[in-house]
Amino acid sequence: MTASIRCFIGLGSNLNNPTEQVVRALDELATLDKCQFIQASSLYASAPVGPQDQPDFINAVAEIETELPPHLLLDKLQAIEQKHQRVRERHWGPRTLDLDLLLYGDQEINTERLIVPHPFMHERSFVLYPLSEISPDVEIPQDKQLSSLLVECPMGSLTKI
Ligand code: AMP
Repeated sequence: MTASIRCFIGLGSNLNNPTEQVVRALDELATLDKCQFIQASSLYASAPVGPQDQPDFINAVAEIETELPPHLLLDKLQAIEQKHQRVRERHWGPRTLDLDLLLYGDQEINTERLIVPHPFMHERSFVLYPLSEISPDVEIPQDKQLSSLLVECPMGSLTKI
């Protein structure tokens, strides 16, 4: 039997009824084969990173346990994004659904397709605060404690909804 790995996934949407996109994506994560859904954070609203002439984002973080190897899990996440008819017109522009693999157990992965821990998670309030809500003691490989990262990352416009 393959061991289960604890993973955290960041969800974000700012198009086509973002709350519904994120809620539906959480349901889809819960039905993934070889994955067990553990919990999800509250939903949060945040101002966009990058171009400001776009709607606010709805974000959340989900915890799952998976027997899937990391690149296969990324395939499944990307398939969910595709189902949400994600349109990407510009870098950091609006998107129907963005799923990021934040943590895959305590593993560090650095391949062309996949970097884990997710390279921007340390500095993004919309990742760190929902993550701390569901797992305040999680270890981030090669990094400070989550509590120290939070001190350095103000909530800014982030609001729990
Ligand atoms: P973005 O839509 O801006 O989040 O970037 C998507 C691209 O990032 C995809 O081509 C992925 O292969 C790549 N990528 C690298 N690391 C990760 C990760 N930890 N989670 C999700 N996508 C990743």
